[in-house]
Amino acid sequence: MLHSVITQFLRSVEWGELDYLIIDLPPGTGDVQLTLIQTVAVTGAVVVTTPSTVALADVRKAIEMFRQVNVEVLGVVENMSTFSCPHCAQAIDIFGHGDGAKTALEYGVPVLGEIEIDPRIRVGGDVGKPVASLGEAAPGAKSLYALAHAVVKRVDEVRPTSGGPAVQID
Ligand SMILES: [Zn+2]
Repeated sequence: MLHSVITQFLRSVEWGELDYLIIDLPPGTGDVQLTLIQTVAVTGAVVVTTPSTVALADVRKAIEMFRQVNVEVLGVVENMSTFSCPHCAQAIDIFGHGDGAKTALEYGVPVLGEIEIDPRIRVGGDVGKPVASLGEAAPGAKSLYALAHAVVKRVDEVRPTSGGPAVQID
């Protein structure tokens, strides 16, 4: 069922002209990932982690899986990286900090960004106005834009050798 849903999503939707098609996958290395890889030529994978040890184990598995199937790992993003106290602006590492970067280094892939824990990101999502849609200068949006710029740069780097844009989704 998953396979047919993904295939239909990719092949039967009128996507029009796209700059990028970014697909948010569930964690792990399951059927969804494999089906996607088998259905279209994927330009690259962005691996998202939190600083917790459990998430990092998943990240290792994901990087190894993508490498096995020759999908370029664009890099690692550490989500919920740090929290800036609204009262004194002190940085608090609720779930720890920097292990995402350590894992990236271990595998020789870039760190694409660190997204802070910011209630504005959650609120923006809840009210249907994602903080990123408010512009690069908006409070809470800066790290998201930095991440987007880093991803664009990496895609440009790997594009000549990745299978992505060579395949037409029709
Ligand atoms: Zn404080």
